[in-house]
Amino acid sequence: MLASTSDVCRLCARVRDLTEEHVIPRSAENKASVQLDTFQSLADGFRTGTTLRQGLTRRSLCHRCNNFGNKHYVGPFAQWTRTLLSEHSKLRPGDFPLLAVTADFLAVSKQIAIMAIAAAELPSIRWGDYPRLRGFVLNPKATGGLGDFRLFVYFHFGRAVHEGGFSAIDTTGGPTAGIYCQVGRPPLGYVVTFSDQATLDWAHSRRLCDVTNFAEMQPGQVSTRWLNIPCLNGGLPFRAISRKTA
Ligand SMILES: [Zn+2]
Repeated sequence: MLASTSDVCRLCARVRDLTEEHVIPRSAENKASVQLDTFQSLADGFRTGTTLRQGLTRRSLCHRCNNFGNKHYVGPFAQWTRTLLSEHSKLRPGDFPLLAVTADFLAVSKQIAIMAIAAAELPSIRWGDYPRLRGFVLNPKATGGLGDFRLFVYFHFGRAVHEGGFSAIDTTGGPTAGIYCQVGRPPLGYVVTFSDQATLDWAHSRRLCDVTNFAEMQPGQVSTRWLNIPCLNGGLPFRAISRKTA
């Protein structure tokens, strides 16, 4: 069935054997089988979504790049996820808690960047946009300079979602939000976007927690920040927009 597993690794941009890897790290609550919404599954008429038995996985990184992420970022990211999992169990969609969160925020932001890169669909990648994001990830000490990218987090409820590289469809006909990826399953979801005004308006309307400045933190520094994180039903962004404007 698989003609070849060689393709362009989204992180190192080399042609390599790509391996099926967990996009949200396995140790960050991404082990169990999920029903996943994708644009493709909707287009195919799969109302129940696509079932992924090993959690949210994708064949888009090479083994070497995946190991690099595991070595540098997955530990702090799993810790951050566990911290917020204990909050998630007390919350419901629509809640908007203000929480004191302790984490290695730079490592968390680098793992979010890896997930955006891993979620990217090759045909839709604007390669000019990615060198900065890849450079940020591939140097564990690099801090700041995400360029046109913004990182958002929310508490994820409901169906998992994993989609890369699209513009959210705004049925009001106005400017659309530019989104590189949305990846989420409980407890958390992540959205990586452009930084234009239409996109920021869209993110603000959903009260997404802007964590772009995590990328400005110092390497290896564990600190505490107050975060206002919305509790949202998962699903693709255009569904949320459709609901709002219907
Ligand atoms: Zn690679």
